[in-house]
Amino acid sequence: MLFQPDIERLPLPQLRALQNARLKEQVAYLAARVPFYQRRFAEAGIDPATFRGLEDLTRLGFTRKADFRDNYPFGLFAVPEAEVARLHCSSGTTGKATVVGYTAGDLAIFSEVVARSLAAAGCRPGMKVQNAYGYGLFTGGLGLHYGAERLGLTVIPVSGGSTDRQLQLLQDFRPEIICATPSYAQVLAEELHRRGIAPEAINLKLAVLGAEPWSEAIRTQVQDGLRVAATNIYGLSEILGPGISQEDVDERGTGSYIWEDHFYPEVVDKDTGEPVAEGELGVLVFSTLTKKALPILRYWTGDITNIYYHHSVKRTHVKMGPIRGRADDMLIIRGVNFFPTQVEDIISGLAHLSPHYQVVATRRGSLDEVEVNVEVAEPLLRELGLATTALTAAHVAEHDCLRQLQGQFAKKIKDNIGLSMRVNLLGCGQLPRSEGGKLNRVRDLRELK
Ligand code: ADP
Repeated sequence: MLFQPDIERLPLPQLRALQNARLKEQVAYLAARVPFYQRRFAEAGIDPATFRGLEDLTRLGFTRKADFRDNYPFGLFAVPEAEVARLHCSSGTTGKATVVGYTAGDLAIFSEVVARSLAAAGCRPGMKVQNAYGYGLFTGGLGLHYGAERLGLTVIPVSGGSTDRQLQLLQDFRPEIICATPSYAQVLAEELHRRGIAPEAINLKLAVLGAEPWSEAIRTQVQDGLRVAATNIYGLSEILGPGISQEDVDERGTGSYIWEDHFYPEVVDKDTGEPVAEGELGVLVFSTLTKKALPILRYWTGDITNIYYHHSVKRTHVKMGPIRGRADDMLIIRGVNFFPTQVEDIISGLAHLSPHYQVVATRRGSLDEVEVNVEVAEPLLRELGLATTALTAAHVAEHDCLRQLQGQFAKKIKDNIGLSMRVNLLGCGQLPRSEGGKLNRVRDLRELK
């Protein structure tokens, strides 16, 4: 279902014209109100009166997380504090949290794009949604909440964590939809199985997952475990929150639509900052087109992905591929750059590994080393007659098929990433799980020594 068909199917020339008009307005608005951008425009030689729109945008430098920090808390706001209807913060995954604000009008747009996203995810008015995103300063909980109400869903605002209660509500209230981080949806799927709760005891049909990178292996685990169609929702606080892009339930695996009438995307080379060709990987950069409290131009998200147009007849807006990682998550080991999601992609291709993994970087002497801890899929451990939850190196040594699996995984890592990594096979549940929010799958212990 399309929530706003006229906008979602707007022919590209008209979409560009709309973006141009909105961008010009946003530039004039910032030039009149925000000293930070007044300085930026002056530095770039941009005169708001003659600014031509998208074609002039790349003359402007990037806005970065550091600019938010330097202007903490409200220095980038374009309206008086009294006109700010709500404040949120980023989760602070990669450092100090940044503060963001919304006017009442911004909140209405936030709800609109989340409603549009949920509709694309397959949600229909009248369905119930269990919202397991954290409520509070994090944009996920309230963002999804109001968007779901806007679409006409019944919201169960349970927030993240409290797995017992989540499972109880899934059985008692029988919602059709769950919204959660993918790592927490994995936990719910595993707990249902572990507790022997029959699939018919719950009524889920759809899962809307986001806030952290996830792979096709996780999608399979969640879809099978919860018996849902799982789609991706993406966003970040500095630009708005969740609902900047969304995957269509019928087009799973082909990318997420970026709602281009509100957010103008670019993908640029992570080193040079120059735009890359359509479809090429780079850093995602966004300019807001309609924000009032905190309009931001050319925000360097640090997220690595690609964007492309040739995809579907359903909507005209551009699609983005999955986030491969954050520029900040990139590990440089012995001169080789890689993202932990590359390890995840390899796991997806190996039948007997589960999608639970952790990458640990350490330094021995002057040499960087990486270990990958990964859980073996439960059926194989059962087949071998091993305790599924406590696998040791000795067990691995005793079983040819585990040794082979370990060797095969290490070889694929070496072949695909170009680094030798030590692989440790673990039993089910031996790695940390999401407690309701984002899960960090990387431990970089090099700085700590
Ligand atoms: P923080 O940057 O502190 O985590 P946010 O809560 O604003 O704060 O999170 C936004 C970030 O979360 C994005 O920049 C991106 O790295 C990640 N993210 C959000 N949604 C997704 C998604 N669907 N897939 C991958 N990463 C995502």
